[in-house]
Amino acid sequence: MASIFSKIISGEIPSFKIHEDDNFLAFLDINPNALGHTLCIPKKEIDQIFDLDDETLSELIIFSKKVANAIKKAVVCERVGMSVIGLEVPHVHVHLIPINNMDDMSFDTKISMTDSQFNETMNKIKSYI
Ligand code: AMP
Repeated sequence: MASIFSKIISGEIPSFKIHEDDNFLAFLDINPNALGHTLCIPKKEIDQIFDLDDETLSELIIFSKKVANAIKKAVVCERVGMSVIGLEVPHVHVHLIPINNMDDMSFDTKISMTDSQFNETMNKIKSYI
């Protein structure tokens, strides 16, 4: 069965898309740690990041760098943290999270956002890609 992220790629499930190319997609995390929390995924559905072939892994990091630089410009933060977990969704994804301290990388702390805040954040980050 297709992963929830494959359904986002196909458009079956809606998302707040930030950036896309032939092989990768970035979209806002629906349950964010912080405003601007973004996921970068390969379109190829692979569960674990270190099972990616070297080329896809390298390109995913380069794609994530482009998105992280846009987040840094769009969201006031000290830096953009990067994390890979994957316990919830078995489709490789890099979390890019605007942070000011270590706690901001904790997945225990979540913020709630309205659809209009998601849209505004998406458009702001997109404008810096
Ligand atoms: P993990 O697999 O533990 O790295 O976490 C999966 C992440 O995907 C969580 O931060 C979820 O909030 C996020 N997530 C799950 N479903 C969606 C969705 N439909 N749109 C955006 N983000 C999602």
